Amino acid sequence: MPRPILATVHAAALSHNLARVRACAPDARVWAVVKANAYGHGIERVFDALRSTDGFALLDLDEARRLRALDWRGPILLLEGCFDARDLELCSRLSLWHTVHCTEQIDRLAAHKTQLAHRVFLKMNTGMNRLGFAPERFRAAWIRLKDLPQVEEISLLQHFPDADGPKGIDAQLQAFDAVTHDLPGERTLSNSAAILRHAGTLAGRSDWVRPGIVLYGSAPDFPAHSAADWDLRPTMTLSSRLIGIQHLQTGDTVGYGSSFAAEAPMRIGVVACGYADGYPRHAATGTPVLVDGVRCRMVGRVSMDMITVDLTPVPKAGAGSEVTLWGCASNGAVLPIDEVARAAGTVGYELMCAVAPRVPFAPGSA
Ligand SMILES: *Cc1c(COP(=O)(O)O)cnc(C)c1O
Repeated sequence: MPRPILATVHAAALSHNLARVRACAPDARVWAVVKANAYGHGIERVFDALRSTDGFALLDLDEARRLRALDWRGPILLLEGCFDARDLELCSRLSLWHTVHCTEQIDRLAAHKTQLAHRVFLKMNTGMNRLGFAPERFRAAWIRLKDLPQVEEISLLQHFPDADGPKGIDAQLQAFDAVTHDLPGERTLSNSAAILRHAGTLAGRSDWVRPGIVLYGSAPDFPAHSAADWDLRPTMTLSSRLIGIQHLQTGDTVGYGSSFAAEAPMRIGVVACGYADGYPRHAATGTPVLVDGVRCRMVGRVSMDMITVDLTPVPKAGAGSEVTLWGCASNGAVLPIDEVARAAGTVGYELMCAVAPRVPFAPGSA
């Protein structure tokens, strides 16, 4: 029997979450963001459930190739654009739309020999200060692109740094509008947090929205809102089983560093899941875990291949009992990935992206 750890992708939940995006942004077309191998789910595993999207957005050219291999003929957008001149060849060949965020990318386009004119998304830096042209340089970049025979159509893109928090989106919208109000072209403004939290402000303003995390059923603004608050469903379950039981006496400790000591006699379940599976090593004592669908707490340190769980709430659990690290248990109970992430000082995004290659995916996984 293989080691019992398993990841499962829930196709119906992906479709449900995409429908939630459509409901929040009814006028916009949708770029389903599938970078980082569909946030760790696997592009091939999510493809069917998301194929009613209008386009897919990602960063890796190899992932774009995989989408074309699935016979996706619709739009694909490279969110960081081309990294070198050869990538432009591939854009021509695979008909990829690409972001232009810096002068070097315009230079390379100008030197690119192609029969097929490109669709580009010119990115403005509205305050995130990662990629994009500063507002005062944006129009000059736009005019340069406009004059290139290699460019067929220019769309406009920006990314919100604070759509998930109290600062909101007003400053970015102002900066963007001030420069682009009289420029033609389609607009794409919103990530998941903006789609959910600022639907009213943004209504009618975006030709395209760019949801990522919302498709995968994690709340972009947890803990202000939970996935359930936004009516999102978990798309990934990480499950395993108990492979050992220990009976601790008062004062006995468990795991490396003996960081947890029993305050009374208790049963401990040993779970076949550790940081080499992608479970966060910084998860603290108290991190929620479901055993037989019942909420328990992780205790002691996470080790490479195992974690240990306080079995007090599940006296009947024993070797072989089902463990849900996040997602859905067989009895229907849900452990939101965001709660586990929080207990480890991180976000749902990181946990789903970090599921390790040694973890097999269930065959029914879409
Ligand atoms: C990753 C990414 C998104 C999606 O972000 P979420 O917070 O997952 O919705 C949107 N736009 C760009 C440019 C991105 O890089």
